[in-house]
Amino acid sequence: MRSISFEFFPPRTEAGTRTLWETIRRVEALAPTFVSVTYGAGGSSRDRTVEVTKRIASDTTLRPVAHLTAVGHSVSELRHIIGQYADAGVRNVLALRGDPPGDPRGPWTPHPEGLAYARDLVRLVKGLGDFSVGVAAFPERHPRSPDWESDIRHYVAKCRAGADFAVTQMFFDVEDYLRLRDRVSRAGCDTPIIPEIMPATDVRQISRFAELSNATFPSRLAQRLDAARDLPSDGHRIGVEYATAMAERLLDEGAPGLHYITLNRSTATLEIHQNVRGRLE
Ligand code: FAD
Repeated sequence: MRSISFEFFPPRTEAGTRTLWETIRRVEALAPTFVSVTYGAGGSSRDRTVEVTKRIASDTTLRPVAHLTAVGHSVSELRHIIGQYADAGVRNVLALRGDPPGDPRGPWTPHPEGLAYARDLVRLVKGLGDFSVGVAAFPERHPRSPDWESDIRHYVAKCRAGADFAVTQMFFDVEDYLRLRDRVSRAGCDTPIIPEIMPATDVRQISRFAELSNATFPSRLAQRLDAARDLPSDGHRIGVEYATAMAERLLDEGAPGLHYITLNRSTATLEIHQNVRGRLE
């Protein structure tokens, strides 16, 4: 059975909360393997992550995975958050180092009483109870890694610290995923790597996301979306077609599942999911 999952972010407004919960209810009907909620760079969005994740655990049949980062937290704060999850019955955490707040590409300085790498967070969560822990994987290499050799070495160390699965950064070329999988496998690591599917329906939005995440955005796709800049339904169709083709190829190549970025909306993701459903059975 392959894993199917959907990613949400904690909304800021009441209207955003309504949209999120409409999406959650639609996704619930598909009985996915899990849904995940991202963790903000700081401030109140972090409390909202905890609230949304706990509410998914208490009010739905879904299995929530809480993203958690080491940014700005001491180890005792991290323990407290993990304890809150455990009390709410949330047993799944995506353990991330996170990026420096403000400028994600700026120098990384760990909290003086905190953790330096995701690997340390994996160990912490695993040591605190019976948690399933996921980690991040980077089909185009982590932007801070100087070379592939060190990137794969640190990735494998993170998996060996106790990760049960990995979810990739967004990417737009299936070959990048396949090459990463081969490199990791050659290094003797078999932790399943779930590819992330990001529907690219709006050229402005996707260019910004791709830049932030360091993903290469194919120029042909960019040109097609650019031509549809003022025709949202064309942009939507192009994005859904592209993501469907990627998802089909990934599943044909044996990917262990698909992790959909929803941006808290369901239309494009559910269409892609509908298109590839046959391959999941
Ligand atoms: P790490 O695994 O710690 O790696 C970071 C860098 O350090 C890499 O270059 C690695 O090679 C290197 N490294 C690791 N160990 C060592 C070592 N021992 N010595 C030297 N170098 C080392 N960010 C958020 O803020 N909130 C989210 O909710 C969020 N969700 C995400 C979900 C997914 C699926 C992905 C892929 C990313 C997500 N991110 C999120 C972004 C993530 O926090 C950043 O990409 C961050 O820069 C890397 O985190 P990591 O967990 O991979 O770090």
